[in-house]
Amino acid sequence: MKYLDEFSNPELAARLLDDIRATVTRPWALMEVCGGQTHSIIRHGIDQLLPEGVEMIHGPGCPVCVTPLEIIDKALAIAEHPDVIFCSFGDMLRVPGSGRDLFAVKGAGGDVRVVYSPLDALTIAQQNPDKQVVFFGIGFETTAPANAMTVFEARRLGIANFSLLVSHVLVPPAIAAIMESPSCRVQGFLAAGHVCSVMGTGEYPPLAERYRVPIVVTGFEPLDILEGIRRSVRQLEEGRHEVENAYPRAVRAEGNPAAMAMLRDVFEVTDRTWRGIGMIPGSGWKLSQRYADFDAELRFDVAGIRTEESARCRSGEVLQGLVKPHECPLFGTECTPRNPHGATMVSSEGACAAYYTYRRLDLLDA
Ligand code: SF4
Repeated sequence: MKYLDEFSNPELAARLLDDIRATVTRPWALMEVCGGQTHSIIRHGIDQLLPEGVEMIHGPGCPVCVTPLEIIDKALAIAEHPDVIFCSFGDMLRVPGSGRDLFAVKGAGGDVRVVYSPLDALTIAQQNPDKQVVFFGIGFETTAPANAMTVFEARRLGIANFSLLVSHVLVPPAIAAIMESPSCRVQGFLAAGHVCSVMGTGEYPPLAERYRVPIVVTGFEPLDILEGIRRSVRQLEEGRHEVENAYPRAVRAEGNPAAMAMLRDVFEVTDRTWRGIGMIPGSGWKLSQRYADFDAELRFDVAGIRTEESARCRSGEVLQGLVKPHECPLFGTECTPRNPHGATMVSSEGACAAYYTYRRLDLLDA
């Protein structure tokens, strides 16, 4: 398939690996920010092909994983309202809140629907004027523009029975929080290419400078990942800490100005709690005052719901790269993708789920 096959070419991958091996003289720890990159690294065994001492730490960039339990519980409370049609992407339906998930609400008679775009939810709202239609808007800077556009359209068209349950999170504050952690081991970052295709690269030079880490904007196919690693270790070996764009087929330095203008109009920065990590100041978006009428948390009075995370799950440490998934005692036994105990097992992009799916169960016996 064009734009995919050529980025999985084994001969080119071998050449990149040779270059990495020839460059590396000492151990380095790199973090891939995005869950899609984690999935690709584990699926293709890239971490096992790297020279000894080059370690990939799996970052907090899986949007489903970092959506706080509290927001899931709010979604459940809203979805069980008899006059609500609750719309979501499919991957959120099986994410457990405190004891149940959206599938359970659907099974009990709730009108929970999978949609493929937030604009589909807006159409459902137009078709059902006697119902309240809520879209579950989660994710990073990548999914936020479509959600912002939908709220903008709802206001423009006067569709008052639509609202958004928002839990958007932002990558740069998460990088800062990781680097500020006293136990941080990360020496370089593969930044998430799709986030930068929206936001550009302008937010990263101050981070690279402040924390003296290379940040390489990286794509998702095997060659993309290897090129991101190659550029990162080269910088580290040469004592540089710069921002490089290794994903130019999708990312421009200025990002997508139209999407950024829409985001500035509809959202404003807020403190966000990240599942497994905790509160990171200024790390998310909420609807701005101009669009507060479309805020489902306010419309359904669920803002007061508070939820505690499982004390046994170590996903917070996994998300910060302090432990690998198979080092958690629950991994593959009590905690599996069918029965996830924590953030990083609930989505296929989560590090625990990726380890479970792609062979890392055997590490328990190692
Ligand atoms: S294996 Fe399960 S319980 Fe352990 S850290 Fe991962 S998600 Fe949490």
